[in-house]
Amino acid sequence: MNKDPGTCPRCNEHEMMTPLEVNALSRTTRGEDDDPVWVCSDCGLDEALMDTFLDGATAQVHWPISARSFQTHITDIRMQTSNWNV
Ligand SMILES: [Zn+2]
Repeated sequence: MNKDPGTCPRCNEHEMMTPLEVNALSRTTRGEDDDPVWVCSDCGLDEALMDTFLDGATAQVHWPISARSFQTHITDIRMQTSNWNV
């Protein structure tokens, strides 16, 4: 019934949402033969920014990460969008 989705495997910090598919699909598992791995939305955003501005997302062997590379930006984005009433 209510299966606990657990915490994000990337940051080990945020609770995952249910169903698992509403979380962010990790950029480390977008290859054709990869098993899908979901991460929390902050980590999904971090991976997207790393992919765009650095040399790609942190490999799963380095999970859980000690800190998000773009945490400052993510906090800014969250504050800006928290006022949106959609
Ligand atoms: Zn996370």
